[in-house]
Parts: sequence; structure tokens; C-alpha cells
Amino acid sequence: MNPKWNGQFSCFDLVARTDSNAGRSARTIVQVRDIEIGGSDFVVMAGPCAVESEDQLLRTAEAVAKAGARVLRGGAYKPRSSPYAFQGLGEEGLKLLAKARAETGLAIITEVMSEEDVELIAGYADIMQVGTRSMENYALLEALGSCGRAVLLKRGMTATLEELLRSAQVIAMAGNRQIILCERGIRTFETATRNTLDIAAVPVLKTVSHLPVIVDPSHAAGIRCLVPTLARASVVVGADGLLVEVHPCPEAAMSDGNQSLNFREFREMMRDLEPYLALQQETRQLQPQLVASGGAD
Ligand code: PEP
Ligand code: MN
Repeated sequence: MNPKWNGQFSCFDLVARTDSNAGRSARTIVQVRDIEIGGSDFVVMAGPCAVESEDQLLRTAEAVAKAGARVLRGGAYKPRSSPYAFQGLGEEGLKLLAKARAETGLAIITEVMSEEDVELIAGYADIMQVGTRSMENYALLEALGSCGRAVLLKRGMTATLEELLRSAQVIAMAGNRQIILCERGIRTFETATRNTLDIAAVPVLKTVSHLPVIVDPSHAAGIRCLVPTLARASVVVGADGLLVEVHPCPEAAMSDGNQSLNFREFREMMRDLEPYLALQQETRQLQPQLVASGGAD
């Protein structure tokens, strides 16, 4: 354990592990319908980047549920790099998500970009996703404090882990402790991947915080062939789940097709993860412990 961590995160007292709450039993379990995130289950959230149509969403929901996903993802309000790109279906997309939940039993996660949309989106979603571009939108974070839904907080693409926890603390101080942290890759000098997956973020966050931590290998990789490998890595380092983009026909997707898996690829990824999930039970025992005082270094 890096002695620097001792005390570094303690100012974020609602989300950090401190010596007094460092026991494993003190971990936060985020309860979403009948799903426990941060407990012994590995929870996979999967679906299209954007909700495009009823057919696209319902087919995807059925396929990912059959393969073992517990939560359906799908953006109805999309933060796009270009103002000319598809911006999402808005409330119509939320209605389709609710329909998919009714038909499959999957819980729903969808992105909220503005504090003005919190109430409307909370009326449909089980988990409110804060995207990488919004991690420091404090008006939004504060509004999520009273939304009555779990929040998945993505790491800003240029944010340190300390800054990620600061944003989590803002949500917690505003009244909502049901927070899931998400590593989705950060910007570095490397251009071979869309972002650089900071795999060490998982054990670090799980050591300094009691919140569940999941990984989004799709936005980290930017290219679908790397997604199953990064998913494996996420399992082995002790992540509590994944957020993965899946599309019936990625080549025709309106957003993020290059990094989306088709149904067969998703099924294969889920099967591939099984032995690594067994291994994760052991990996959990390797979790670094907070120490009271620093060692020789
Ligand atoms: C998304 O999940 O589709 C998304 C826009 O993610 P991020 O905020 O990580 O870019
Ligand atoms: Mn996307």
C-alpha cells in the first residue's frame, strides 16, 4: 500500500474507506431492483450505445439477458463529440427502455446530462449514468443527490482518481449513497486505443473507497476486438461488473459501432469470462489493505 494514500482520500469521508470502516463488511452494496452491485455477484450491464428503435432495443435486450446480463444500457440523451451526430431519441428512448425492462426483467441504466432532465429520467431509469464529460458538472451531481435512484459515475477522461472520488462525495453529501464508480479509460499520449484503460484504478479504488467499481471496456478500447480481453482483465483485478456496448448490427450503429459487440461476440465474451470469475473469488482475497502507518519507502 502506498503510504501516500493514508489520509489522501479521508476528506471524502462518505465514500472513502477509512481505518474505522476498512473491514470488508463495510463495503457499499448498491441495490437495484433484485440486483446487488458490489456484493458477491459480478453484474454485467450491456446494450447499445444509443437507443435507436424499438426493434433494435428489444432484440438487444433479449439477447443480452439470455447471455447473462442483468442490466440493459442504452443512451436516450447522447453527449456527442459532433453537434451534427445523432443526439438520441430523448423521452421516446426512455419509453422504449421501460418497455424492454417490462419484457425482459432487466434493470435499466441510461445517461443523464443535465440537472433539468434528472426528474424525467429518474421516472424511467433504475440507474442514472453520469458520463465522462459530466463528471465535474456539480449542478448535475447535486441534483442526483435527491433523485431516488442509484448513480453510476464515470471517471472523467482527464480526471485523477482523487477527482473521481471528489465528485462521488458531492453526490453523497447531497443525500445519495447509492453510487457505483466506473473506470472507462483515460486520455494519454497513446493513440492505438480510443482511451487508455487504467486497470490499476480498479484495485486502487476498491482499496481507498467502499463503493462498487465497474469497468467499461468498450469506451476504453474503442475497437470491438479488444473488448473481451479488457473484460477478462477487469474480472481478474476485482471489478464488480462491466458496462459493455452491444448492437444487433454494429456496422449499422448510429453511434460507437466500432466498439460494439454483436450478439454472438457478447455471448462468447460472457462464456469466456466464466473461469476468470471463479479466479476473481481468490483475487478478492489479495485486495491491498489500508495500513495505519507507512513502511520503509
Ligand atoms: C456511453 O456510455 O455511451 C458514453 C457516452 O460513455 P462515456 O461518457 O464514457 O464517453
Ligand atoms: Mn457509447
